[in-house]
Amino acid sequence: MYESNYLIHRLAQGAVTAPDKVFARRPGLADVSYGELFAGAQRLAQRLATLGLEPGDRVAVQVEKTLEAVQLYLGTVMAGGIFLPLNTAYTGSEVAYFIGDATPRILVCDPTRATELTPLADGATVLTLDATGQGSLMADLAGTETGFSPVARGADDLAAILYTSGTTGRSKGAMLSHKNLASNSEALVDLWRFTADDVLIHALPIFHTHGLFVATNVALLSGASTVFLPKFDAVAILDAMPAATALMGVPTFYTRLLQNPRLTPEHAGNMRLFISGSAPLLVDTHEQWQARTGHRILERYGMTETNMSTSNPYDAERRAGTVGFPLPGVELRIMEGEAEVTQGEIGVIEVRGDNVFQGYWKMPEKTAEELRPDGWFITGDLAQQDADGYVTIVGRAKDLVITGGFNVYPKEIESLIDDLPGVLESAVIGVPHPDFGEAVVAVVVATDPNLQVRSLRDACAESLAKFKQPKHIMIVSELPRNTMGKVQKKALREEHADLFG
Ligand code: AMP
Repeated sequence: MYESNYLIHRLAQGAVTAPDKVFARRPGLADVSYGELFAGAQRLAQRLATLGLEPGDRVAVQVEKTLEAVQLYLGTVMAGGIFLPLNTAYTGSEVAYFIGDATPRILVCDPTRATELTPLADGATVLTLDATGQGSLMADLAGTETGFSPVARGADDLAAILYTSGTTGRSKGAMLSHKNLASNSEALVDLWRFTADDVLIHALPIFHTHGLFVATNVALLSGASTVFLPKFDAVAILDAMPAATALMGVPTFYTRLLQNPRLTPEHAGNMRLFISGSAPLLVDTHEQWQARTGHRILERYGMTETNMSTSNPYDAERRAGTVGFPLPGVELRIMEGEAEVTQGEIGVIEVRGDNVFQGYWKMPEKTAEELRPDGWFITGDLAQQDADGYVTIVGRAKDLVITGGFNVYPKEIESLIDDLPGVLESAVIGVPHPDFGEAVVAVVVATDPNLQVRSLRDACAESLAKFKQPKHIMIVSELPRNTMGKVQKKALREEHADLFG
């Protein structure tokens, strides 16, 4: 019944063949079966269509993580729409930019944000959905017809737009097709051996590629069950572990779980797979995890624009500090400019395959800068490949900071600080942090000798999502520069590497 819609047809296999199978176990709440998940998605698809959603229209969503939000993702794609999830931490002015850029037909937000966001909606219909799955989106929905026929969508039609911050300007919307998403999840299910017998602990946010596509789509495609947690919670994950088989997390998950004495080989005895990605996993964390659980974490690498590109192997050696090999169906090369580097040298990773996005929404020039005409995508990540083919990421060409799994682009924060009274200039860097992986640090040069760190901190808190706010701000007399006048961020990072001990 879902055949006409490329992605939904694939994701709904479990619902068609085993509708009574549990999709989500939710601590303290009722289980949700595959049949119920898709019935709810159909109702939401019907609602969106009734509200005037046309194929190709965007549905922007800034809500807490709930099963209803997953149904909204599926319902949007089923109705032929393009799902556009937004980080719940984004402020009103940040959301206003996304609305202006993507011109969604419908905006779904938390009821507590509705008064603030409605005037910014720019003609979009505003609906609400709260952390308990209630809101105007859901009003009178229970018990309505579930026979919605999915809108026909092909492999190359868009299913989602995910915004990635830009290093030099505004955020860019990565356009992902039905085939981009389906092909990547299919490859991962195969590689990581997911089956209907798996129980995946799902504690990642669903506004990001990791939780939305890697975790959710892999579970759906394999017909697995999930323990569906609203957010990371070490105790809840440890509670779930004895009856679960797999966990997907960012490195912060693993460093925090290691702090809990309940983590033992016996406690993790039913688990078959721990996967990490979205930021570098320290070799030290890898080793500690093995000592504490007997399992070697499987690290993989990807990004919003490419879905997943590499993974350590399931059966062969999972090499700490590396992100493994290109996935089946993904080509990878390491380049310096227009030429491939010799094996072992550092260069920029380029990838090509069905996983690679369709370009940046309404930014043809940006797309042309990063996506070559023959399909190779220039990731901006610096890496080297060893003689066995394992890829090691050595840094980011673009000085991106990843804190707790979230990307922070220094330029955005620097621009804000530089515009404040009494500030000459600033440099924002990431420095190692035991809990967040990296912490955002701002180094500021003042024109006003009385400039206070507190006023800088208040200004950041006013306009930036919490995860972007510097964890430390320092005022210095000058920034280190090279002969070309460029600020030496590497030197700054080295100088302040021990800030968080
Ligand atoms: P995002 O688009 O938010 O998924 O961020 C993608 C970026 O995260 C990549 O371009 C990499 O710089 C980084 N990244 C993802 N996975 C890893 C990993 N396993 N090791 C190091 N960096 C990673």
